Amino acid sequence: DYCLYQDQLVPREQLKIDPEDRGYHFGDGIYEVVHVYHGKAFALSDHLTRFKESAEKLDLPMLYSTDKLGELVQQLIEKNKLEHGMVYFQMTRGISPRNHLYTRNETPVLTGFSKPLPDEKRESVRLYLTDDIRWLRCDIKTINLLGNVLAKREATDHQCDEALLHRDGTVTEGSSSNVFLIKNETLYTHPATNLILNGITRQITIRLAKAKGYTVVEEPFPKEVIKDADEAFITSTIHEITPVTEVIGDETAHFPVGPVTKMLQQAFAEEIAKHSQT
Ligand code: PLP
Repeated sequence: DYCLYQDQLVPREQLKIDPEDRGYHFGDGIYEVVHVYHGKAFALSDHLTRFKESAEKLDLPMLYSTDKLGELVQQLIEKNKLEHGMVYFQMTRGISPRNHLYTRNETPVLTGFSKPLPDEKRESVRLYLTDDIRWLRCDIKTINLLGNVLAKREATDHQCDEALLHRDGTVTEGSSSNVFLIKNETLYTHPATNLILNGITRQITIRLAKAKGYTVVEEPFPKEVIKDADEAFITSTIHEITPVTEVIGDETAHFPVGPVTKMLQQAFAEEIAKHSQT
C-alpha cells in the first residue's frame, strides 16, 4: 500500500512523520476526503477548490496547485489499484520548533492515503441531538476536530450512528455530515455560513433537488421543528445521501424513509454513474 508524501508515492512503512509537525502540536492543517468509484475520484475539482479555500482562510500556502494535487490523488488511486474506496489527504503548516506563532517560512507537509470501502451502504441512521461546542470557523475543513470527535463518541454512547448538532437551539449539521429536513416537499438545511462545513455532497444534493423541482430553503431552523418534519437525511462524501429514521437526545423524532429522500438518492446514484462513464 502506497501513501502520499509531498509529491512522492511512498510505501506506507517508509513514510516518516516528524514529531514537531504543527499538525501534531496544534491541529494546524487542513484535509479533504474524496470518494473513489470505478477507480476515479468523484467531484475531485470541488474538493480541490474547497481545499484551496481552507488554505487561504488559514493563511496556509498551497504547496502545489490544485491541478498538481488532483494528479497526485489520481496517481495514488492507480498505484494502489483502488476501485471503490476513499482518498484522504491533508496538509499541515509544516515542521518547526513548538511555538504558537507561525513565521510564514514553514514548508507545508502533504500526506495522504487510500482505503477500500465496502459496496453495501448503511441503509439509515439514528441521530443523537446535542450541543454544538465547536469554534466559530466550522466552514474551514481543518484537522482540528475535537468538537466533532467528542460529539461522535457521545452519539455512539447513546446507540446512535451520528451526532446532530445545535448551537443555542439552532440546528447546524452532523459531526461529519450535513443535515436536511423535508416538510411538504420542501427541503430545509442550514445556510453555508461560518457555522457549518459547506459539504460537497450538500451542494450536489441542493443542485439535484432544484433540478427535480423541489424548493430548497437554506435558512437556520430551531431544533423544535425537527419532530414536525416528514423526512430527514444526512449527506457526506462517504455516506452520500442517507435517510434518518430516528432522532433522540435534546429532541425526539421518528421518520419513514420517504419518497423525496428516495428520489434524491436515485438522482445521486445517476450522478455517480455519469461520472464513472466519462
Ligand atoms: N460537515 C462536517 C463537519 C464534516 O466533517 C463533513 C464531512 O466529513 C461534512 C459536513 C460533509 O461534507 P462532504 O459532503 O464534503 O463530505
